[in-house]
Amino acid sequence: MNENKGKFTREAAQNFLALEPEMQAERLADYIWTISDGSCRTIFLEAANSIIAFDTFGTPGRARAYKKKVAECIPEKEIKTVIYSHDHLDHSGFAADLSADAEIIADEMCAKVIKLRQAEGQSMPTKILSGAKNEMSIDGLEFTLLNPGPTHGSGNMSAWFADAGVLFSSDTILANAKYGFVPDYHICNFVKFMRGFLELEWQTFVPGRYEITDRAGFSRGCDYFEAVQLEAQNAFAEFVPIWAFEPMKGYVMNKLAERFGDLDGFEDHVGQTAIRIVHHYLMGGWGLEDTPEPSVLLANEVQL
Ligand SMILES: [Zn+2]
Repeated sequence: MNENKGKFTREAAQNFLALEPEMQAERLADYIWTISDGSCRTIFLEAANSIIAFDTFGTPGRARAYKKKVAECIPEKEIKTVIYSHDHLDHSGFAADLSADAEIIADEMCAKVIKLRQAEGQSMPTKILSGAKNEMSIDGLEFTLLNPGPTHGSGNMSAWFADAGVLFSSDTILANAKYGFVPDYHICNFVKFMRGFLELEWQTFVPGRYEITDRAGFSRGCDYFEAVQLEAQNAFAEFVPIWAFEPMKGYVMNKLAERFGDLDGFEDHVGQTAIRIVHHYLMGGWGLEDTPEPSVLLANEVQL
């Protein structure tokens, strides 16, 4: 085997990179489909003469499985456009294995990180977007790409389909409590930017992982994230050893179980979510992304 390796350096990773899992695809609206490998989730669109695929999944094998499933669902059209939701390899890492000659659309921050990262198999975007809102018109389809500011990863673009009442936003709000210990959440403005999406008209929310939800589920996700932020601060006030997992987990479980204990994955994940968030308050944020004016990140220091 000789798969594109992303950032792996060990030959042993080939087994992981090559696996092609069973994909589950489902039609959400006239032209919108959602697809999952059991963990990550994304969407693809049937345009007039082609397919527009969001993201690529996290390995060459998964990218191929994605391509095969799309071909199974819509046999007469090919993927001609790939849109990266954000820079992370587990979502946009292997476009080279999904569609070798597609146009690849990404936000400029995402593109800059990808350019400097140089991960094997992660294709450079060919069309760069900037700004908070881009109205797209591709092969007969019209939709809106939104990037209100740093939320998760670099250059995270969400997609709003006003006519179908669908919002897709990868690795942001989930329909459960399965947030991991991911440093690349930009806590400062995260909930504010997410709640901003509730000002738009939509009924169905497609997250970048796990199950689809609705406005109420999305709103509850914002409430949960905010509640962990509040209890993380209370932990300082009560002198919980906030850098240690077990005391932090016990503290937030006790505070949040009554209100959010029914969320899938609550007990297994609330501790690591709290450890991540508590470090936001301990350190003051994750670099420039967590400042009140994160647009300074777009200062033109990396040329594309
Ligand atoms: Zn991510």
